[in-house]
Amino acid sequence: MYFGCPRRVYYTARGHELLLDITSSRIERMLEKELALAYPELMKGASLNADSLNLALKATLERAARDLPLLYPRELKAANQSLLEEGKALAEARLSEIGTNLLQSLEEYGKKNFLAALTPIKSEPFLASERLNLKGFPSKLVCFEEKLLPSIIKTGNCPRNGVWAQDRFHATALILLLEAEYEQNIEEAFVEYASHGLLRKVKIRALDRREVLKVCRRVEKIKSGFMPEKKEGPLCKHCSFSKQCKQKPSSLLSKFF
Ligand code: SF4
Repeated sequence: MYFGCPRRVYYTARGHELLLDITSSRIERMLEKELALAYPELMKGASLNADSLNLALKATLERAARDLPLLYPRELKAANQSLLEEGKALAEARLSEIGTNLLQSLEEYGKKNFLAALTPIKSEPFLASERLNLKGFPSKLVCFEEKLLPSIIKTGNCPRNGVWAQDRFHATALILLLEAEYEQNIEEAFVEYASHGLLRKVKIRALDRREVLKVCRRVEKIKSGFMPEKKEGPLCKHCSFSKQCKQKPSSLLSKFF
């Protein structure tokens, strides 16, 4: 949220809820996340080929589309059937690319390692550190090559190589939390780009840790009452805080946030 707009952090820290419009592409992303949660089961199939995987993905999508209103009743309260169908059609159009990429990763990693990277030993565990004043939860914890690693599921576009800077940041924050919880050094994380069926491993550097600590301090400052500069941009158009956001920043210092 901070990277999207620091002011949103200010408002949510004061009990205001950020209401996101429900659109067909948001429904598509919800469905792609549900598909990604089913990857471990889908990839266990002994005789996987492109056709059987595509059929299995399609059946999983059908089930996810039926379950979605039960999983997200609040978010989907305003969604009618045709919007749900549009979202499902968008997700369906991605199935062939998802299947191709999953099979390619299966070959690259080898079945044992790929399943280890996808299969949660814990799903969405809540992690908190008093020292860092930070809380969060990875999509899953996996045991990969004898190491405990966090994994996050992201929807939407993915970079040609590696992971987006924001995803690297998110992974680093989770690593810091995990290290605090399990008292062990962790240097890697997985990012699953669910809209593409891609799994990327990211290695965390001291630079990333420094960036997380820096942003944590800025967020603390915002939470304690500092209003950051308004960040005019495409997000403002659909932002539920746009009315109260007319307020001017309190000082020149806010320009640095
Ligand atoms: S209206 Fe724009 S600047 Fe204000 S909180 Fe929303 S996204 Fe941020």
